[in-house]
Parts: sequence; structure tokens; C-alpha cells
Amino acid sequence: MDIKLQKLSFAYAPGTPFEKRALFDVDLAIASGSYQAIIGHTGSGKSTILQHLNALLKPTAGSIQIGDKVITAGKKEKDLRPIRQKVGIVFQFPEHQLFEETVLKDIIFGPMNFGVPEEEAMEKARDLVKLVGLPEAVLEKSPFDLSGGQMRRVAIAGVLAMEPDVIVLDEPTAGLDPRGRKEIMDLFYQLHQKRNLTTILVTHSMEDAARYADQIAIMHEGRCVLTGTPREIFSDIETLSNYRLEVPQIIHFQKQLEQKAGFSFPKLCLTEEE
Ligand code: ADP
Repeated sequence: MDIKLQKLSFAYAPGTPFEKRALFDVDLAIASGSYQAIIGHTGSGKSTILQHLNALLKPTAGSIQIGDKVITAGKKEKDLRPIRQKVGIVFQFPEHQLFEETVLKDIIFGPMNFGVPEEEAMEKARDLVKLVGLPEAVLEKSPFDLSGGQMRRVAIAGVLAMEPDVIVLDEPTAGLDPRGRKEIMDLFYQLHQKRNLTTILVTHSMEDAARYADQIAIMHEGRCVLTGTPREIFSDIETLSNYRLEVPQIIHFQKQLEQKAGFSFPKLCLTEEE
């Protein structure tokens, strides 16, 4: 499912003394099946874009196209529901959204709300726990008896249960140790590969963007200031450093890309150790 942001602008509390422009004419095209990272410092507009991706926010001006649906300022709420189903968002600390008595009930909650018959939803839940790397036995457990990493996997299964065409990851490794980070990022990469899932990673981690994404967009003060492949982005040290991205870090990534994969590879090999 292709996604296209065209001159997307957004202001919080428009027309009030608290008006705050958060996005300015953002243009960004995300091809179906690609892995797009959106990176930038705090306050650069990443979350505001994320909330447009499943129509939690509507543009103040400009548009966002998701598949054949175009969201503009005037779009009616009822027209946004199908878009929300197609775009799954894994919010930061998604395990905080678990609430049911058992893992199974948690995973089938979304599909059943959308009218999927219980048997079918349960069948899907059994496949999904395996897909996210958990034993089937967790289905009958309380999500609150699981470890933090397992809870996060259950929450991810819950998002996948809606069969989204696009998955948006909001700082998905927040709060995890380095090993947990790699496991979760590898899991998303495998999902992206196996299911041809269009994946949008919203992060301040250049490391994750360099390692996993096909395409990177850099946000700075509400503007999309640079887009390209990791190779293109990390070649452009001068532009990157203009946007307060730390030069030693950029050089570090550049060297890593050169040494480990060479620039002819689209991305780093996932099995390589740091
Ligand atoms: P990021 O996700 O990159 O940290 P945000 O999209 O959250 O950036 O924020 C972009 C700008 O919008 C910032 O200046 C931020 O202070 C402002 N902003 C974010 N949310 C709100 C809000 N609910 N009300 C007013 N301003 C907001």
C-alpha cells in the first residue's frame, strides 16, 4: 500500500493564542513493501506525522494518501475507520495497552471488534504468538505474568491480528536492553520480509535506521529536510550536521556501512554482530 504525504501541514490548537505549527509542507512518498525510517530530534514532528498515518490527526493543509484513500482537513470520521484498520501502530511501550485476563483474549479483542468470528480470531491468535516468537502455551496465561519482552511481543501480535498492510513503529525498543532491542528490531525486520509488510519506523536512533531501513527521512523543526537510502543519507555529512545530527556518530555509521556491507548492499546483514 503506497503512502504519500503531499505538502502536509499541521498546527495544534489552530486559531488560538496557543497555536503551534508542528509540520510545514512535508512531502514524502513511501512505496508499498518498503522499510522507511523517519528520524529526528525531539520536537521535530515525528509523532505528529505518526498520528496522521492512521488518521488520529487530520491535516491542517495538504494531504496524506494511504492506498486509494486520501485524508484531507475535511474528511469525515466514518471514512477514516477503514484506514485505521489498514495501518497498525505499535506505540511506545505497547505492553501498557494490554488489559485482558489472558493473552488469547487480548489478541482476539481487535479482530472480534471488527466482526471476525471467534473461532477464526482464535486460530489467527495461535499463528501469531508463534510468529512473534512465543510458545503457544502463553495464550492461556495472564499477560501480566509474562516478562516485559514477552508482553511486548503479545502487544505486537495484537496489532498484527488486525492484518494491517502497513505497520508503524514508534520507538519500538524504548526501555529494552541492547539484546532485547536487537531481538525486537530483528522480529520487525522478519515480519517486513516475510509478509511484505510496509514498515515505518519512527525513531531518534540513527543506528536502527541505518541498519534496517531501505529509505530514511530526516525531520527537523517540522520539515522533512533530507530523504534517501542509508547510503545516500550517511554520505551527506555536511547536510546532516546542519541539522544538529552529531558528526562523530554519522562518521561512525558511515564507516560501519563501508566496512561491513559495502555500499552496494541495500542494508546491513542482520545476523552480523556489532
Ligand atoms: P517529535 O515526535 O519529533 O518529538 P512532535 O510531533 O511531538 O515531535 O512535536 C512537534 C512540535 O509540536 C513540537 O514543537 C511540540 O512541542 C509540538 N506539539 C506536540 N504535541 C502538541 C500538542 N498536543 N499541543 C501543542 N503542541 C504540540
